[in-house]
Amino acid sequence: MNLLKRMTLLLSAIFLFVGCSVESDSILIENVTLLSMESDELSENYSVLITDGRIAWVGPAADARTFRGATIITGDYYVMPGLAEMHAHIPGANQGEEYMKAVLGLYLSQGITTIRGMLGQPAHLEMRELAAAGEIDSPRIFTSGPSFSGNSVSDPDEARQRVRDQVEAGYDLLKFHPGLSVELFEAITDEANALGIEFSGHISHAVGLERSLEAGKGSIDHLDRYMEFLAGDPADREDPSIIYFGYDLAYQADEERIREAARKTREAGVWNVPTNTLLVNVFSPDYTPEQMNEWPGMEFIPENTRNGWVNFVSDLRSGDDYDEEQARRFLELRNKLTLALHEEGAGLLLGADAPQIFNPPGYSAHRELALLVEAGLSPFEALKTGTVYVGEYLGEEDETGKIAEGYRADLIFLSANPLEAIPFHDHIEGVMKDGRFYDRSDLDELLDRIRQAID
Ligand SMILES: [Zn+2]
Repeated sequence: MNLLKRMTLLLSAIFLFVGCSVESDSILIENVTLLSMESDELSENYSVLITDGRIAWVGPAADARTFRGATIITGDYYVMPGLAEMHAHIPGANQGEEYMKAVLGLYLSQGITTIRGMLGQPAHLEMRELAAAGEIDSPRIFTSGPSFSGNSVSDPDEARQRVRDQVEAGYDLLKFHPGLSVELFEAITDEANALGIEFSGHISHAVGLERSLEAGKGSIDHLDRYMEFLAGDPADREDPSIIYFGYDLAYQADEERIREAARKTREAGVWNVPTNTLLVNVFSPDYTPEQMNEWPGMEFIPENTRNGWVNFVSDLRSGDDYDEEQARRFLELRNKLTLALHEEGAGLLLGADAPQIFNPPGYSAHRELALLVEAGLSPFEALKTGTVYVGEYLGEEDETGKIAEGYRADLIFLSANPLEAIPFHDHIEGVMKDGRFYDRSDLDELLDRIRQAID
């Protein structure tokens, strides 16, 4: 039994002894300012009752007096729903269980209470169960299986079998990488649609945006193949490096087609996880690798990984293909696409792609929020991509992404108004996951343990 559970039992015993209340297993978050995400209005002097990992009651603090016996959390806090990182990576088992857990803890420490792991393996299914049971400090985990790509499948029947195997194994979604032929893509998506498992990630060169949208389901990540669509899918073009995402088409892309792309996406009901920070980190002349190496959270990335990122970006930017103006044009088009998708009502989800290329877990999701605002979303709309829309994507509109009765008790406690403080990783005073509260000193302890695991 862990210490928290023991203390809770002890407290329950004390309350039973004094006959004080039936609420002794509950937590009362008392007299705080809420951003419930029901609207962009703040609710001042509000209280929230948590029972069994769920929000049992929300209302003005003055009405909460009857909940005597509950453990009280109070302070000068802004409280909002926990955020989701929808393009997360969990390290592989080959990097050691300790490192895997450290990365999961890092997400949680930054207020990320849900992650969607985008390159799964059996060990991640175990982590998912441990997280659900509250046995590790971790966000709630959704995970893809190992990816489908031109390297991992070669024959339609084999591909269909691989879909069935991953469904059987219990993965939450399929992950696509590039290199799939149309024939393979159709076999995989047909099998996936029949079994009701979604597919997300990259779009293969041969498949293209429109065919992918027609197949439906899941999310497109990194705004993959939108540039090709804007450039009219040039037929003679060879598929460049995976990290380009159409950078080479920056001057051929027709801005007039952005609306059409957004409309088609909305009609298909397909989500997007833009991961704009990934592409900014790779291409933006505004940030040198040396600067990015000093960004918040980078101290939790192993040194050889950081050096790898510095070398990768330095090499790319000193290569023949790189041009500052072209990079700016590319990033500008991505911002316009992001905004158009949002305005058109095509779903956006928060995701940075961590830990990849100067994206420390958790920290980079906050940076992605800032980039969504830079693209033209209001702060409230940006926050919805990590909360309310995540609930919609998961089919959990009634339990994920808001502070309201019946919702999961996944919360962030802040010293600043989240609508005014994006990126607010510096203002996190506490995190609650499934009703378990980590105050600032718990989070600092967690970060110390993570630091040791990484050294
Ligand atoms: Zn990724």
